[in-house]
Amino acid sequence: MGTYAVTGSASGMGRTTADKLRAAGHTVIGVDLAEGDVVADLSTPQGRREAASEVLDAASGHLDGAVLAAGLGPMPGQERVIAQVNYLGVVELLKAWQPALAATGNAKVVVFSSNSTTTIPLVPRRVVRALLAGDAQKAVRGVRLFGRAAPLMVYAASKIAVSHWVRRHAVRAEWAGAGIRLNAIAPGAILTPLLEHQLANQPQVKAVRSFPIPIGGYGDASQLGDWVVFMLSDAADFLVGSVVFVDGGSDAYLRTDAWPRPVPPHGLARYLRRLRSHTPSR
Ligand code: NAD
Repeated sequence: MGTYAVTGSASGMGRTTADKLRAAGHTVIGVDLAEGDVVADLSTPQGRREAASEVLDAASGHLDGAVLAAGLGPMPGQERVIAQVNYLGVVELLKAWQPALAATGNAKVVVFSSNSTTTIPLVPRRVVRALLAGDAQKAVRGVRLFGRAAPLMVYAASKIAVSHWVRRHAVRAEWAGAGIRLNAIAPGAILTPLLEHQLANQPQVKAVRSFPIPIGGYGDASQLGDWVVFMLSDAADFLVGSVVFVDGGSDAYLRTDAWPRPVPPHGLARYLRRLRSHTPSR
């Protein structure tokens, strides 16, 4: 049985994941704002430092896996907190936990992304770049001109940035080379307190309700927990740097032929550089 850190363990998909891991006999160190084994505010640098070190103490420096589910939806007036929790609350913790994950030799990490990464148009690249550089304030300044759409823009940017961070790091020596499988799950609209809040919040109701979901209805938080547990299992030993969409078909509907796609002409030079610089491991 393993030891897993789960952020956002008090509600929604983090909670269903933690419950399923515990039911399977694993030890879960839950991190959340007001209720958890570790109580910390991931929107502040100090809260993130405390969460990182308290988990390492509780796990005795040895983690079989981590699930980064703490996050906010596109809530009006919360742009700064969205950037801090959804991006920095993932990457700062993972950087601190990497040695404990590497210590296991076969650890698995699942980061909560979103299908907003691919379904929200016009997210400014400079905002994503600011987050990847760790500058949440610059990211928030970069979405101000969007007015009422600013929370949605910073939300989508936070999920794009965290997905890029996962894919950049997953393939590196410190992660794949240390036996750590680093992946992301990209849910669509899942009926959790986060979505219920959006459905009860008048300015957002119309946009949420009109968003296309080909299968109909909303996703089930318990089923998403099953997906995460699967991505932490031995069945996922060959899953590295993937962003797994579980979204009722929204992404496929809105971007039908956008993926899979071959390497485009402007990307060929980079592709060949990567190919030549790779050192075979077998
Ligand atoms: P939720 O609101 O039910 O749970 C989120 C948890 O994060 C809560 O327990 C909350 O207390 C915690 N959290 C929020 N701010 C925090 C902070 N500052 N410090 C510590 N903990 C904090 O939400 P959910 O729907 O289960 O979402 C889980 C993840 O999935 C989030 O990252 C969310 O962005 C993402 N997501 C959700 C949906 C959806 O439709 N529900 C869709 C795509 C992605």
